[in-house]
Amino acid sequence: MLLSRILFFVLLSVLLLGQVPSSYAADVQSYLPKDQNYETSVTTPEAVLGFGLGERHPRHDQIVDYFQQLANSSERVMITEMGRTEQLRKQLLVTISTAENLANLEDILAKRKKTYVNLGDVKEKTDDEPLVVWLGYSVHGDEASGANAAMAVAYHYAASQDQSIEELLKNTIIVLEPSINPDGLDRFVNWVTTFQSNTLNDDPSHIEHHQGWPSGRTNHYWFDLNRDWLLLTQKESQQRLKFFHNYQPHIVGDFHEMSRNGSYFFQPGVPSRTHPLTPKANGELTKLIGSYHAKALDQQQRLYYSEEVFDDFYYGKGSTYPDINGSIGILFEQASSRGLQQQSINGLLTFEFGIQNHVLTSLSTVEGAWQNQQQLKNYRQEFYRQGLKLAKKESFNGYLIHADNDQHRLNEFLQTLTQHQIKVYPLSSDFRHNAKLFLKDQSYFIPLEQTQYRVIQALFNQQTNFQDNTFYDVSGWTLPLAMNIEFHQVERTWGLKLANNPWKKPAQATTLLDQNAYGYVFEWHHSLAPQLLEKLLSSGLKARVATKSFTSNVHGVTRRFKAGSILVAAGWQQVNNWRELLTNASIESHIEIFSLSTGFTPQGVDLGSSSFKVLKKVNVMLIGGDNISQYEAGEVRFYLDKNLHLPLSIVEQNRINSLDLALYSHIILVDGNYSDFSDKIVSQLSLWVKNGGVIYAQKRAAKWLSDKEILSADFVSNNQINQLFDLDNLTYQDKENLAARKRIAGAIFQTSLDNSHPLTYGIETKNLPLFRNSTLIMKRPTQAFVSVANYTDSPLMSGYTDRNLVNTIAHNSAIVAHNLGKGRVIASSDNLVFRGYWLGSAKLLANSLYFAKAFNVSIKD
Ligand SMILES: [Zn+2]
Repeated sequence: MLLSRILFFVLLSVLLLGQVPSSYAADVQSYLPKDQNYETSVTTPEAVLGFGLGERHPRHDQIVDYFQQLANSSERVMITEMGRTEQLRKQLLVTISTAENLANLEDILAKRKKTYVNLGDVKEKTDDEPLVVWLGYSVHGDEASGANAAMAVAYHYAASQDQSIEELLKNTIIVLEPSINPDGLDRFVNWVTTFQSNTLNDDPSHIEHHQGWPSGRTNHYWFDLNRDWLLLTQKESQQRLKFFHNYQPHIVGDFHEMSRNGSYFFQPGVPSRTHPLTPKANGELTKLIGSYHAKALDQQQRLYYSEEVFDDFYYGKGSTYPDINGSIGILFEQASSRGLQQQSINGLLTFEFGIQNHVLTSLSTVEGAWQNQQQLKNYRQEFYRQGLKLAKKESFNGYLIHADNDQHRLNEFLQTLTQHQIKVYPLSSDFRHNAKLFLKDQSYFIPLEQTQYRVIQALFNQQTNFQDNTFYDVSGWTLPLAMNIEFHQVERTWGLKLANNPWKKPAQATTLLDQNAYGYVFEWHHSLAPQLLEKLLSSGLKARVATKSFTSNVHGVTRRFKAGSILVAAGWQQVNNWRELLTNASIESHIEIFSLSTGFTPQGVDLGSSSFKVLKKVNVMLIGGDNISQYEAGEVRFYLDKNLHLPLSIVEQNRINSLDLALYSHIILVDGNYSDFSDKIVSQLSLWVKNGGVIYAQKRAAKWLSDKEILSADFVSNNQINQLFDLDNLTYQDKENLAARKRIAGAIFQTSLDNSHPLTYGIETKNLPLFRNSTLIMKRPTQAFVSVANYTDSPLMSGYTDRNLVNTIAHNSAIVAHNLGKGRVIASSDNLVFRGYWLGSAKLLANSLYFAKAFNVSIKD
């Protein structure tokens, strides 16, 4: 079997030889240290791939194939499928250790878990626990050198018969996630291989090096998985996190690529840009391990840098999340050949060169961790011990959560906390806090004194002042604000009684419908109410939205239904099995449907009133393509697909000309540069709105609609914003700092809603937090009823924004909406569905789809 495989490879090599430049390293051993006496029965990457590492870009399935064959040929290697990606590719985890350790892996991990998770057990004994090193590669699919390096690294530890490796593995578990983003990796690999030729092209302008839209960086939904470790909206992240917490690594390597003209970066990054919840000792250990990377790169005269550019602040990244979980996360960045080779300011940059660098630092990570294992183990122990001390020192004991009527949103929130191993306890009796009574069935408590104290603080933190104002990514991400969940710090727990067991996701009940009812009503405060409505409308059922409240008698009890409630009256229906469809849809969305026996209401409008506005099936188009933010397009797509179950047509801008726009009820424009749109398209869009279309635009798209006089709103000019900053006495040194002050990298702002406006139906709070990552500010319109959400007078809730900018944002508009002819124009200066977890403001987008015709605000010239 083995012989035939070797023979096959020899034959294949001969066949390929004519196409492969001889300077390429076909042999995995050329990437690895000398004199390892590699076990010949262990399968090499080239034997499986049919080409050497660096010669081609293997697809994810080829990488999986290699690891499967590696595991078959080495007793040191075990592979686990953590789950499937959105596109059903395998999410692979590779564990490497001695055969004996692998056989006892579950026991070893369970024992470690006990040490750290039960705080009472955090004692002295850590000597006999193995060192756990976790190496993750190519979370950005178009940074493929990592995934290729992973094969060489795994081969090395599987095949080396060097005594030091055998010694190391006895007490070390190496965990590799070779390809963190399989769907993105394949999107990239398909791109580069499409444009690669036998004759290699190093021209940076060649199409091979410039991906189409969307790029391979992101996953199926065009989400950056390297921002999702904390938010966990993507299934790839959720599936991985279970394993991360099961293995509890001491150290984590996160392997990336940056622009082609860089050299090589390894952390530590900029010291002042580390999140204050990360212990100082973390940075010291990162630096200590860094000396091993430096040595490895020095030996081959490869250029590198550290303590610059990159930060360690936002905990949603693969190199930062470990820092809040007792581990040392280390970011590596290789200059990208973004293809097989490319010219750079450093000369010819090859794919092979990048792979080699990541192999070197992967090995130096393991080596550095091995040499300093006792320090890493002590650090981890101390991390939890200190965490507990810090929790005790806090001025409050924990967070009290109050659930409103939306079970889905609450479940999503608590589920996210639980995935981070945070314990949340339901109240077992009512509790009075600051003169408000918290009912036991609607309230939860999160004690600070628990293992995950730091993660709790990272998720609930509302910091607005920082040591360093420069942010590589968002500076504010407070989870309960994003999900619009009420939370309070509790200083006195006297009288607080908690359930014995932490919260677990409950099985959800469904209601039976009265089969002869006059009509049915469901309430809009449920996150999934739009999903239920979409199901009904797309099945041909007729439904209307109440624009005024009413009461009704439901099984002998008078119940008040707010504006925004959806009525499905028997008298309107034309589809035969409509009651069955309604029943099934309510079961699917777990939303309670009330059966009404009469159209006559004790209070408020009767069911036949024209205050119930007709709802129509929507056909939604999103404009995509070059110059349009693939993230924001992806976020809208994710929300409509996963939450609303609504088919979204994505149309590239160059195809708008040839479309019959009348087929669509809504067009969504996300942030992007629309200046390429011809006057013809602009007048087409304008005419379509005037004929009854609804256009929703956010950020720069909103500004563009205003420039084109489709949106009636004014924006604060760049000039006005520049004037906010005092430029006197600045020196050249202040250039970067000024740029940082002028940016809003990502912060949370408070708005005040017009709760009577149809676009806010279902949002039961007066104030709604919104996420903002631009300095585009919409002025508050002078005309009444146009502004749906205004920033409050002191709007900054979380994250960094310069005080002058905050003051300019205050009182201005976040959402405006008005008529244009028979149509509607809705604009937001913010991203309502940022990174998939903003379930609070997402409702505004759903309402823009279903309730745009339920309001009527004409603009007077
Ligand atoms: Zn990256």
